[in-house]
Amino acid sequence: MSRVKKLIRQEILDLSAYPVPDASGMLKLDAMENPYSWPAVAKEAWADLLTDLPLNRYPDASAQQLRDGLKESMGVSDEYDILLGNGSDEIIQLLAMAMAKPGATILAPEPGFVMYKMIATFCGLNYVGVPLTSDFQLDEKAMLAAIETSQPELIFLAQPNNPTGNLWDQAAIENIIKASEGLVVVDEAYTAFTDADHLELLDRYDNVLVMRTLSKVGLAGLRLGLIIGRAEWLNELDKIRLPYNINMLTQASTLFALEYYDMLMMQTEQLRVDRVVLMEDLAKLSGVTVYPSEANFVLIRTPDGMARNWFEELKERGILIKCLDGGHPLLENCLRITVGTTSQNERLIAALSDIAHSGTVQ
Ligand SMILES: *Cc1c(COP(=O)(O)O)cnc(C)c1O
Repeated sequence: MSRVKKLIRQEILDLSAYPVPDASGMLKLDAMENPYSWPAVAKEAWADLLTDLPLNRYPDASAQQLRDGLKESMGVSDEYDILLGNGSDEIIQLLAMAMAKPGATILAPEPGFVMYKMIATFCGLNYVGVPLTSDFQLDEKAMLAAIETSQPELIFLAQPNNPTGNLWDQAAIENIIKASEGLVVVDEAYTAFTDADHLELLDRYDNVLVMRTLSKVGLAGLRLGLIIGRAEWLNELDKIRLPYNINMLTQASTLFALEYYDMLMMQTEQLRVDRVVLMEDLAKLSGVTVYPSEANFVLIRTPDGMARNWFEELKERGILIKCLDGGHPLLENCLRITVGTTSQNERLIAALSDIAHSGTVQ
């Protein structure tokens, strides 16, 4: 046996790395990025700011100013703390590390965000995935039964859910929180694209934290995620946060971007408007089911056996989306499309109409 195989944990050897496809020159509609950039004046002011940063110094370890700014922008009350991560992925990892007692379990509905399971594996926790119903709602009975049996330390509920895009029944969510002896993290990565807001759960339950990210509102390149909740929880997580995990460029750039928060929110508003148009246009393709979305992406089901073919055909036309077929039994024939600018969406629809049409002619 090679030394590598002997030394590395078996569950790591069994993993394949998170796949990030090469997208050079492509129209990227695969990763829920905001398609808009900043006006030239804003870019210049930002560049000036960066020029003066003392890169020879460590960044502010507590990122106090940034945390205060985020609390204000997001309307988080002073009772609650906020902890920052290098993307919310890092926060999921902090939570898992903090709870990785022998035999500890993470539970999440499926299909869901793949990092919950991957990070459970990285950190040596058990993972339990509970299937959603066929219309992607929570299977409350199955969830409660799984909680009873596996007594998870940590439950992730993404609202809206990725990759399905929908919200779940609020009563079911609260019943899960009440039934859980563990911590329930409501992952609001797509909070900017929905009116739903779960911050008020913090007032009523001491086993809830709310996680957010700036990735989906136009700052994906900066890698900044946050988790909001009672100091009692966040103080413990803060102990295992690596010092200086939020670098100086990210701190300064995000603080700068918060001055343009209204602009980011206007872009978001435009994406919400265009989401409706995109969904209507997708629904006109014959044999396509479009699922309700409260996020900046749309899940569709193609006619039987067409998802991979449409994905490849789009790629040949320079458009990258996400093919979910084969990822989970409930996602058979499914594709996920990020909402782009009005003209990007039109380009996608034109290409898809062409592909779907030539498919039926053959
Ligand atoms: C995108 C996403 C995240 C992670 O975002 P970061 O870029 O790591 O902040 C977390 N949860 C869900 C459900 C997501 O879709």
